[in-house]
Amino acid sequence: MNNFDAEELAKFEELAYRWWDCDSEFKPLHDINPLRLDYIDRNAHLNGKKVLDIGCGGGILSESMAQKGASVKGIDLGKAPLSVAQLHAKENQVEIDYELVSAEEIADREAGSYDIVTCLEMLEHVPQPDSIVGACAKLVKPGGDVFFSTINRNPKAYLFAIIGAEYVLNLLPKGTHDYKKLIRPSELDRWIRDHKLSTQDITGMSYNPLTGKYWLGRDVSVNYLVHCKKS
Ligand code: SAH
Repeated sequence: MNNFDAEELAKFEELAYRWWDCDSEFKPLHDINPLRLDYIDRNAHLNGKKVLDIGCGGGILSESMAQKGASVKGIDLGKAPLSVAQLHAKENQVEIDYELVSAEEIADREAGSYDIVTCLEMLEHVPQPDSIVGACAKLVKPGGDVFFSTINRNPKAYLFAIIGAEYVLNLLPKGTHDYKKLIRPSELDRWIRDHKLSTQDITGMSYNPLTGKYWLGRDVSVNYLVHCKKS
C-alpha cells in the first residue's frame, strides 16, 4: 500500500511557492522553527550529525539544521515543495540533499544510517502514521535520536488547532488539518514502543494569539514534540 494521501499532498503543492514567505500560510512553521530547532539541538547536538528530515516540505527545518552544522537529507512526496526547498537552499548556499521518496522506501535502502531522524508536522497528514514511525526506527542508527511533532486529538485541540487557527485567526487555510487524523500522545507513544524506540521526552508547544508568541512547556494538549531514542 502507498502510505500517502493525494489530497493531503495537493494542499501543500498548491501553496508551495509561498513556503518561504514569512507572512503566508507558512508563518506558523517559520515562527515555531527556532523553538523546535533548539529542542532538537539541545537533545541531540546537530553539529557534525547525519540527519534525515522526513516530510521536509519547503525545507524550513532542514535548512536550519544544516546551518547548525548537520549534514542533512530532506525527503517529501510533494514535488513543488521539494523544488522550492532545492531552490532556496541553492540561493542560500546551504548544501542539502533533497529527494522525492517515501519514508518506507528510503528505510529499505538506508536502514541504520542516520544519527538523527526528524518528522515534524507530517504524521497527521498520512494514512498510516504508524508505518512512518516504523520507517524512522529503521533509519536511525542504534543510539540515535528521532523527533516527531504533531497535534493532539481532544476538544481543546479541535478548538485551538482547527477552529482557532483555521477559522478565527486565519493562520492556516481551512481544511489544513482533519480532526480524525490528529494523534494523541498515547497513540504515538504506543507506535514508538512497538517499533523498539524509547520515548525520552514529550514537550508541549503553546501559542498566545494576543501576543503571537509560541513557547515550549508542559501543556501537550494541542501541539507537541516528542524525542525518542533507539537503544
Ligand atoms: N516538516 C516540515 C513541513 C511540514 S508540512 C516542517 O515542519 O517545516 C507537511 C509536509 O508533509 C508537506 O511538505 C507534505 O508534502 C508532506 N507529506 C504529506 N504526506 C506525506 C507522505 N505520505 N510522505 C512524505 N511527505 C508527506
